[in-house]
Amino acid sequence: MKSDREIELLRVAGNIVYRTHQYLKPFIKEGITTKELDRLAEDFIRKQNATPSFKGYDGFPGSICTSINNQVVHGIPGKTKLKNGDIISIDIGACFKGYHGDSAWTYAVGEISDDKKYLMEHTEKALFEGLKQIKPGNRIGDIGHAIENYAKQHHLGVVEELVGHGVGTSVHEDPEVPNYGLPHTGPKLRKGMVIAVEPMLNLGSKEIYVLDDEWTIETADGSPSAHFEHTVVVTEDGYQILTGE
Ligand code: MG
Ligand code: MG
Repeated sequence: MKSDREIELLRVAGNIVYRTHQYLKPFIKEGITTKELDRLAEDFIRKQNATPSFKGYDGFPGSICTSINNQVVHGIPGKTKLKNGDIISIDIGACFKGYHGDSAWTYAVGEISDDKKYLMEHTEKALFEGLKQIKPGNRIGDIGHAIENYAKQHHLGVVEELVGHGVGTSVHEDPEVPNYGLPHTGPKLRKGMVIAVEPMLNLGSKEIYVLDDEWTIETADGSPSAHFEHTVVVTEDGYQILTGE
């Protein structure tokens, strides 16, 4: 449980992450490299007197994660140029006065296929299906169950190896928040808990593998993947998004 003072700092950090996403949006166009997006994000975050949470995290070389099409998460920013028809998942973390915010969003580059639109729409909706379960007394398993259920109804693969998490003075804290699970199981949600919920859904099977760079995770069958994440605080009767406006 976080104190009111801590929640205020987490709110500032979360809002910086939100504003970094808004700042990047107009740049997400054909021709820009993921390294250029990384530089823009890092400069913006530092101007807010914050630092990029992922830079150097376990040795991660980028400030943000940029995962294109069949890449699920942890793509390293580099020379790859975005192309019309790509989707790109951008995961941003920012640390303000020792407290973190964490939010990922998948964006379309130009005109994308109906399949990719379907994947993006339903992965975002799956996130909100999970969030709807958040209130004191419910359990972590209720969140995962709602996400898994929604994904299965829409024939999307649920990545299981990567999970949501608590957020605080460390960007990844307990408890783990899986995108699958059974109702009424797992740790109880309590007022003042801060967690990141982050479904990663694939248009094909749920299987994934790690590239030789030891970071980038791709779908095993080459199908596109989407990732939507918010950091939220558990309130008296529900939740509030910290990585929003
Ligand atoms: Mg994230
Ligand atoms: Mg996260």
